[in-house]
Amino acid sequence: MNDTIDAIEARLIESPIRSARSQGSGAVSRMVRRIIVRIGTRDGAEGWGEAAPWAPFGNTAETTLVAIVSTLRPALLGGDPALIGARMADCDKALANHPEAKAAVEMALWDIAGKRANLPLVAMLGGAVQAALPLSFSIADPDFAADLDRAKAMWADGHRIFKVKTGFAGHAEDLRRLEALRAALPLMDLRVDYNQGLAPMDAIRTLRDVEAFKPTFIEQPVPRGQEAAMAAITAALDTPVMADESVYGPADLLRGAQDRIADCVSIKLMKCGGIGPARTLDAIAATAGWPSYGGTLWEGGIALAAAAHMLAASPNNTLGCEFYMPTLALVEDVATSITVANGAVRLPTGPGLGAVIDPAVIRKQTVADA
Ligand SMILES: [Mg+2]
Repeated sequence: MNDTIDAIEARLIESPIRSARSQGSGAVSRMVRRIIVRIGTRDGAEGWGEAAPWAPFGNTAETTLVAIVSTLRPALLGGDPALIGARMADCDKALANHPEAKAAVEMALWDIAGKRANLPLVAMLGGAVQAALPLSFSIADPDFAADLDRAKAMWADGHRIFKVKTGFAGHAEDLRRLEALRAALPLMDLRVDYNQGLAPMDAIRTLRDVEAFKPTFIEQPVPRGQEAAMAAITAALDTPVMADESVYGPADLLRGAQDRIADCVSIKLMKCGGIGPARTLDAIAATAGWPSYGGTLWEGGIALAAAAHMLAASPNNTLGCEFYMPTLALVEDVATSITVANGAVRLPTGPGLGAVIDPAVIRKQTVADA
């Protein structure tokens, strides 16, 4: 007889972070709030999931907790956890939107499936194309001098990719930071992320100044909704443009690829709703000739394990990832999972997501449970 889902527990946790992050859309200091999900089955299997909603992108931790408990839980209880596509169809039917909540429950189902098969998730997805994902670190500390020192120390440690958050401190200050970074580490793979920070009117002239520092790409220069401006910028610049906020799910990407609004895309499980939609996004991107990048909101080790397994299985993920929260930003995470060595993220090797949960940290960081 098939197994059935008999428990779904969700907790809102608050996790302290090491340094403040200021990046245009929603500054973060002191703590991040996340949702940790545990799905249990009648046969005793257990899967873990995580949502890291961030209000500028959509939901809050509170709305995500309510979505899981009030709507996704009743839609999932009693269902066969092995039929992940069917379970997620139930979730989509029960609740529109809420990609963060859906991503959390979907990765918990994959965790159960992988543990049952005794295979890491990446093996269930076809096996690893890359053994490790090059790691990008974001330069977003309001104290730029501290970030510059951090970048130099990280370079010595093997990190090669740095992404500067621009568009919130003024153009002159952006140029000063880019110049200082380029001078300090001339061989770095430098990327620039505006987080929607420019107005369309003068964006091309502003970005031409930034091109002088030879960034690998410029991410989301103008706001979501200004896709005609994205397309004009992409056509005007020599530097590739990355779509982040302009592309949440597959429908955005299909339209965006047809309208040539960018040259590459940041895939985030929290924008698109899980591993299934992320793979659809990546397939559309590959078809359009857009390489993919592993973006994040504020996920820790559970959700980033899921994303790392998914991207490691993709030949189209050639721009690396920014999965540094558990190792470089959180004071303490609820799970041990991905690790960083020589500037690249390594997958956990255990079955399923491979995240080893620390119940004591979950208890300590819990603010609300349901
Ligand atoms: Mg971004």
